[in-house]
Amino acid sequence: GKPRVVVVGGGAGGATAARYIAKDSKGEVDVTLIEPTRRYYTCFFSNLYLGGIKTYDDLGHSYGTLASEYGINVVHDYAVGVDRDAKTVALAGGESVPYDKLILSPGIDFVEGSVPGWDITAQNAMPHAYKGGSQTELLKAQIMAMPQGGTYVMVAPPNPYRCPPGPYERISMVAHYLKANNPTAKIIIADPKEKFSKQGLFEEGWNSHYPGMITRIGPDFGGENTSVSVADMTVDIDGEVIKADVVNVIPGMMAGKIAHSAAVTDGNWAPVNAADMSTKADPDIYVLGDSSQQGDMPKSGFSANSQAKVCANAVRGALTGSKVFPARFSNTCWSLIDTNDGVKVGATYEATEEKIAKVNGFISQTGEDAGLRQATYEESEVWYTAITEDMFG
Ligand code: FAD
Repeated sequence: GKPRVVVVGGGAGGATAARYIAKDSKGEVDVTLIEPTRRYYTCFFSNLYLGGIKTYDDLGHSYGTLASEYGINVVHDYAVGVDRDAKTVALAGGESVPYDKLILSPGIDFVEGSVPGWDITAQNAMPHAYKGGSQTELLKAQIMAMPQGGTYVMVAPPNPYRCPPGPYERISMVAHYLKANNPTAKIIIADPKEKFSKQGLFEEGWNSHYPGMITRIGPDFGGENTSVSVADMTVDIDGEVIKADVVNVIPGMMAGKIAHSAAVTDGNWAPVNAADMSTKADPDIYVLGDSSQQGDMPKSGFSANSQAKVCANAVRGALTGSKVFPARFSNTCWSLIDTNDGVKVGATYEATEEKIAKVNGFISQTGEDAGLRQATYEESEVWYTAITEDMFG
């Protein structure tokens, strides 16, 4: 029969890989995509939804076209195990799905005990909103329900984590909402990191757009020594206890659980070969996106999509003998600081023996004029449309 590819996770990495393999192999390869949710809500632009700039519907995408146009077998179920000898994936529903090549792109899960006092059962009281969908809606509802002059605390994650500028874009968008609706509210960030992505750009923007609203407590002031009490709705930052109205806990992260069950991880992440994203542990299992440990690329939707195209080309080549092109990758992370005040950081990359290695980079500058910032924001809107089309057809 036809060679079989199974893709676990229909996000930035998985949906792109499934679509490219199906599209380019023109029916020569049998592609199955396993994804529990029927509608994928992007994390990218979810901060803009918190800020009131995008709607919740703007974030949602369906898998219908992948099935109808590209002939992908979309299975709405959860992968619970991988038998590497039998080359099968076990689903929560009881099914077992055979593969010749298996691509895992399950995103992230959280490291237990990362923030003392918080675990996954606390995610309704203290949302992370670091996976798309209902968590994002919940955090937005909590922000809208804050009393006048209330306090929003974010517990920021340690490195490495998905979307390095994401927590700080979120702070900007929460401030944007509060400035208009709750101008005496306060925002506090407890941060275990010395420095963070695009820091100079964010701090410049916070000072000019939201003066006095945002306080960041970094490790010099005990920000890495943070715990929470869910029952009291308090955050303890190095002994100082803050009563909060919204506590947004973004814990430490690791590869999605299925990558651990497949035993292709080493510690928190899955080491891969840069040329094709195959795992170091098993040449027939590939890991894309946030779950992978690949080298210099940040964990972003743009990166996952870029890695997926390299992987799709290599997998198709291995199964059908089609031409395999040398791996090239790129990434840009845009962030919105206030209406039309967009900034970006990005780079191109190549595959070396050892890792995905950065070739060239660029970053927005402080003091840029409003026209350039608006053009940067508009680029991000064009990108959003392009990547979601690239994922879902
Ligand atoms: P995901 O896109 O998360 O996809 C994983 C999928 O796997 C999910 O649909 C999940 O349901 C499924 N899954 C998990 N486990 C299983 C299983 N066992 N069986 C079946 N399915 C499973 N990136 C950008 O490029 N630009 C941005 O502006 C940006 N902004 C962001 C803002 C925020 C607030 C956040 C949180 C992230 C942002 N990102 C951004 C990062 C981006 O969302 C991720 O890096 C990207 O989604 C990673 O793709 P992935 O395929 O690894 O995982």
